[in-house]
Amino acid sequence: MKISELFKQKKVVYSFEIFPPKVNDDISKIYKTLSELKDVSPDYISITYSAGGSKNSRTKEIAQIVKDEYGIEPLAHLTCINSTKQEVANALQGLVDIGVQNVLALRGDRIEGEVKSDFQYASQLTEFIKQNSDMDVAGACYPEGHPESANIVEDIRNLKIKVDKGVSHLNSQLFFDNDDYLKYLDMVRLAGIDVPIQAGIMPLVRASQFGGIVKTTAAKLPAKISRMYSKFADDPEALMEAGIAYATDQIVDLLSSGVDGIHLYIMNNAYVARRITENIKPIIDKLNGVK
Ligand code: FAD
Repeated sequence: MKISELFKQKKVVYSFEIFPPKVNDDISKIYKTLSELKDVSPDYISITYSAGGSKNSRTKEIAQIVKDEYGIEPLAHLTCINSTKQEVANALQGLVDIGVQNVLALRGDRIEGEVKSDFQYASQLTEFIKQNSDMDVAGACYPEGHPESANIVEDIRNLKIKVDKGVSHLNSQLFFDNDDYLKYLDMVRLAGIDVPIQAGIMPLVRASQFGGIVKTTAAKLPAKISRMYSKFADDPEALMEAGIAYATDQIVDLLSSGVDGIHLYIMNNAYVARRITENIKPIIDKLNGVK
């Protein structure tokens, strides 16, 4: 099913992001994760592509498993800056061949020595996918502005170009301050971007995340989170509970504010996905009119 159809059927779309195992890693772990995720019935699961410059190409393999073995709709990520047009065309055809209907079109981060000249921006990839397939195309957006853009206004103007090339929904970068996100939504809507936008939420449940992914994305850390980290960094169980509680609170507030959807960056942690889903699914079901 195309994800654009999901947005027509539901007031709130709820999904997870996972990353594929590395090329030489045992695949059984992802089966275990997916079995647990299936039980919490997300609307779809997105699968990252070559994230962190690892040249990991198992996205297609995992998308096929998600779709055919677990009956969950996959959203396959695809990047372009480090690939030629032919490589992108091959990757796209591979996804078409296995029946994937949804692609998240990304520029990707530049890998030194790998950058090609065929694509500069995700908007060009979006146009390419729309011209060469019948896929639904999703795009990324940045509530605190993309780190390379001069300012948020310029970034939103560029986002409008991308959406106009055929993006049918947006997934946001992770953020921890809902007020920033809600202000961003106002600006995006004023700019005439009308497609549904899912809020990207990453539960901070492990001390290593603070120095890792949070640093990479340069997301602003509210004082509340810094206090949580200072207090519980050396107590993994307490940090896990505090992180789940923070993410739950953030999501409840976003749902109260009428967002189109929640996309959880679960870092392949099915336990965290289940705990948060147990907290928020009754509210999402209510909003979606599920009895
Ligand atoms: P773009 O939309 O192309 O924007 C990149 C920059 O270029 C921005 O500063 C923008 O303002 C500017 N820009 C855009 N168009 C123009 C224009 N016409 N003229 C001038 N400037 C312009 N990375 C991976 O490697 N693999 C993944 O699986 C992955 N998944 C992600 C999922 C989400 C939801 C998000 C938010 C990010 C993900 N990333 C992933 C990271 C992403 O690849 C990087 O953030 C990358 O730096 C930008 O990608 P983009 O698609 O947002 O780029």
